[in-house]
Amino acid sequence: MRPIIALTADTLDQPSPELNVNHADYAPRDIKNAIIKAGGMPVILPFPEDVALAAEMAQAAAATFDGLLLPGGPDVDPTLYGEEPSPAIGSTEYPKDRFEQALIRATITAGKPILAICRGLQILNVTLGGTLYQDLASQDPDVTIRHAQAAPGQYPTHHVTIKAGSQLARLVGEHAYVNSRHHEAVKRVAPGLQVMATAPDGVIEALADLQDRQVMAVQWHPENLWQQDAAELRPFALLVQRAEAHATAQSSAAAPLVS
Ligand code: MN
Repeated sequence: MRPIIALTADTLDQPSPELNVNHADYAPRDIKNAIIKAGGMPVILPFPEDVALAAEMAQAAAATFDGLLLPGGPDVDPTLYGEEPSPAIGSTEYPKDRFEQALIRATITAGKPILAICRGLQILNVTLGGTLYQDLASQDPDVTIRHAQAAPGQYPTHHVTIKAGSQLARLVGEHAYVNSRHHEAVKRVAPGLQVMATAPDGVIEALADLQDRQVMAVQWHPENLWQQDAAELRPFALLVQRAEAHATAQSSAAAPLVS
């Protein structure tokens, strides 16, 4: 059985004259395909515009899926970590932030796995109590690398060093060459998370939970790399594997006693 992997949606930010396409919900095709290729069943989860419904809907959703994939997307609303918006912040989507925060809490509480990509890593860090650079180039004096790459998005542009012995190193090695399409990044790491990779200028490029068992988060976009670099499909395969293991453990725990 393919485990169900929930993939959170964004909405089109340009209004459309076609009523049913206006701000329609969508998710990245390359992530959908990576989940399918890795053996999962992707389900796209739209967010409610009414933030009062976020917690209840996240609970309902988390009861139905086996694993959660948080994709890239807009900047995180800085009020969620106690800051005013910097002049260099990009567009934000507060209702999406609130829904994903509720989903992260519900998923972690349920013991189900998460794979977070780019903005997904950032909202994960904020939800668990960390902070972000709203704009690396103007706020982090140590940055020496262009993290918002000008090259086409599927091309790797900078290197990362990955913590020896980590799950991530097991999957992609201790040195990886990755794409980079972010101008925000982790500033203070949330309690409960650990750094698993950094760029040569010190920018945090991957996080995991302290046991390195349930949550994997990468700042790059493996969904656009695996077609050329097979190792980059492995984070998706690990999510599917963890989801399957959780689902199996749950169903055997819930099985009726045979008399
Ligand atoms: Mn980067």
